[in-house]
Amino acid sequence: MTASHNSASNPSSPEFAYFKNQFVPIEEATISVKTHAFLYGTSIFEGIRGYWLPEERAICIFRMREHYQRMMRNSKIFFIHPTHTLEEYLRTTVSLVHKNQLATDSYIRPTLYKTGNTIGPYMENGITEFCLWTSPLGQYVDINKGLKVCVSNWRRVDDNAIPPRAKAGGAYMNTALIVTEAKFNGFDEAVVLTHEGTVSEGSAMNLFLIQNGKLLTPGKTENILEGITRDAVLTLAKQELGIESIERTIDRTELYTCDEAFFCGTGAQIAPITNFDNRPVGDGEIGPLTRKLQNLYFDVVKNKRPEYQDWCTVVYLDKSLDENLKRLGLAENLNPVP
Ligand code: PMP
Repeated sequence: MTASHNSASNPSSPEFAYFKNQFVPIEEATISVKTHAFLYGTSIFEGIRGYWLPEERAICIFRMREHYQRMMRNSKIFFIHPTHTLEEYLRTTVSLVHKNQLATDSYIRPTLYKTGNTIGPYMENGITEFCLWTSPLGQYVDINKGLKVCVSNWRRVDDNAIPPRAKAGGAYMNTALIVTEAKFNGFDEAVVLTHEGTVSEGSAMNLFLIQNGKLLTPGKTENILEGITRDAVLTLAKQELGIESIERTIDRTELYTCDEAFFCGTGAQIAPITNFDNRPVGDGEIGPLTRKLQNLYFDVVKNKRPEYQDWCTVVYLDKSLDENLKRLGLAENLNPVP
């Protein structure tokens, strides 16, 4: 991961966040130590990628609308009520990306979180707030070498414990255990199993196997986050490569016998896996279908495929914010919902 300040790309440009319904310098976007979300992990968040398009001097935000739709839909699970409308979240995000002038691949992090300084985790006592920041982000995991992956000793949080589909802040303690153990043991990443012992996903990414020319991925009820990249892979495999995908329960040993494998996600992008638990995947090299999907993915996220331009929100850094918002159909006031 790259450094977390935009001085890497533009030393003269100050960094802003959206915090308490306004844009503030990042240093001022601070919360109290008594904040409910800090004490109990009561937040839900999204991670969105912005891809730098050097020729156009623009940031291409990938599937921004779908990320906010997921956040708003899942907020219900935890009684974390959205603070703004979808259009307002989209407008705020475009505005912040434009304001921060990050001339590099970046990460955009919206969070809905409980505040209110009350003691005890009861959700309805607190109020919900929204914050947003951006940061440079290169590769989250190595997407070129082929990852060495283990099966974690930890189990995935369960839908009846901390529902993983909600992308809740507190659930990432589970992710932290999984990825930390993997790295301590000399692996790049881990696959985590459900309580039933079937394959769920990576620590913070979805998993695909390829077997006999077909894509296999755990179904939505396997305690996965219903990834937006996962959905993009399913769409691209079908529409562009004519490959059939099967969403079903996957046994651990299917990891050891598949022909190809990769992780996908906003952070992971398309990350080939060449080894599970010290067993080579296929012949131990990155598979041809995985490579094809990876190339296709990068064309799509960089707005090189007109058929998928609906997935791309292009923010031109040298054009005014108003011009950008008008072109994107987002020109309105930035008022929070009363
Ligand atoms: N699973 C988990 C647990 C994640 O944190 C992520 C990253 N958001 C994913 C899967 C991939 O989801 P997406 O493609 O929407 O980023």
